[in-house]
Amino acid sequence: MNCAECGKEIIDEDSSFCAYCGNPFDSKKNKTELLGEGAILLIIAATFTLTIGIIGLMNYQATVAYIASVGGDIAPYLGFLLFGFIDIIMFIPGLLGGLSALFKRRFKFSFIAAILVLCSSLATFIIIQYYAYGYADIVLFSEIPILVFSILSIFLINKSKTEFN
Ligand SMILES: [Zn+2]
Repeated sequence: MNCAECGKEIIDEDSSFCAYCGNPFDSKKNKTELLGEGAILLIIAATFTLTIGIIGLMNYQATVAYIASVGGDIAPYLGFLLFGFIDIIMFIPGLLGGLSALFKRRFKFSFIAAILVLCSSLATFIIIQYYAYGYADIVLFSEIPILVFSILSIFLINKSKTEFN
């Protein structure tokens, strides 16, 4: 094995720093920590996703009740129902994937779960833009941590692939 930074050969495989340039290695311990962080980030992202899903469905329900009382077209508000459902459903693989990464089980499942959470976040973003829900700014704002956390968890889970049993 050679140092990724300076390219010199690593003599002491157990060390966590390069003896020549001081570049830190991804030692076993570091990878375990990275995977733990990735798992927690995925669980947080999934929880945020669930929250946004619930907000979407509640918004839809309230709007439907209002439209029913005044009369009008419900079609422009279907987006709330759509991202509400997507986000609530994607919470399940997100949470399970995060837990499985936490216990170092099933790499592929955890990795795909993180991608699903990212996709649901992107879908929510696109739906809000498509339906032009200007007043859903708070939802869009909450999408940012989900995007960041899910991308980070994809990266961290993939980086610590060898940690999985
Ligand atoms: Zn080096």
